[in-house]
Amino acid sequence: MTPKQIERVMKRYRITNGKGFRLKDHDPDDIADGLVDKKDATALLAGGVTRLAELQELLYPYASWSMLCIFQAMDAAGKDGTIKHVMSGVNPQGVVVTSFKVPGPQALAHDFLWRISLALPERGQIGIFNRSHYEEVLVVRVHKQLLRAQHLPADLDGKRIWEHRLEDIAAFERYLGRQGTIVLKFFLNISKEEQKKRFQERLDDPNKNWKFSASDIEEREYWKEYMEAYEEAIVATAAPHAPWYVVPANNKWFARLVVVEAMIEALEALKLKPMEMQAPDRIRLEEARQRLLEE
Ligand code: ATP
Ligand code: MG
Repeated sequence: MTPKQIERVMKRYRITNGKGFRLKDHDPDDIADGLVDKKDATALLAGGVTRLAELQELLYPYASWSMLCIFQAMDAAGKDGTIKHVMSGVNPQGVVVTSFKVPGPQALAHDFLWRISLALPERGQIGIFNRSHYEEVLVVRVHKQLLRAQHLPADLDGKRIWEHRLEDIAAFERYLGRQGTIVLKFFLNISKEEQKKRFQERLDDPNKNWKFSASDIEEREYWKEYMEAYEEAIVATAAPHAPWYVVPANNKWFARLVVVEAMIEALEALKLKPMEMQAPDRIRLEEARQRLLEE
């Protein structure tokens, strides 16, 4: 594929302005009109993983920019596998992966961004969120009774709570951008039929049984509500400094390529160069070399 073609394909999945965004315009089966062949996918992904590792090596020494990649999806959409494959070449010292589960008592005793802030990547690091603050406008919105555990003052628990949360998330991400954190958000978009197929595989294959939990079947019943919540979240929070990628995810190999390409593009845009020593530091290096020679 030529760089122009890649650019055009990525543009299709990147949402930087939520106005007019409709999830139904995004096909989970999309594989970029056959521009990439499945049989080339392994080699392409390996190339992407290597490039990502190189870029991370440039990011690290400056300890200035950081990157936060947020993964959201329905169950079995492939968050875990995507994170595993895409990050497989990167120096583990430069990456922190955090999985956000049902909040415990300490998190519930704070505002909803508290536990998120604690997990943000340091400067120079890549942070990966497997689920995130978006759960607060997804699962909590679909199951409103979850709000009760959050002990919000009654006055703040009104009808506009979702609108307010979305506003707060957008403001938080804008703040992170202004602090030098590149925020990328990935929605791995699978179809309900594909999820059924993957659940069946998990049930049929003893090695995959552990991936299945009974609640997965229940959440499936709320598919429509989840899709509405995702759509509203994307509409309200897509921005040039914090784009959403609606990644077609019925084909795992394709989803992984889109994710790695998005991360590469974001890091390349920083135009990082290998860190060069300033003159006084170089003199100190020379002195150190001499001392070693004289030992
Ligand atoms: P897997 O794909 O392996 O099942 P998972 O991300 O689904 O991984 P689980 O431990 O099964 O991991 O699920 C985590 C659960 O925590 C999800 O059901 C998610 O909706 C829920 N969760 C995460 N954040 C929140 C939150 N802020 N409030 C309520 N529930 C949350
Ligand atoms: Mg689960």
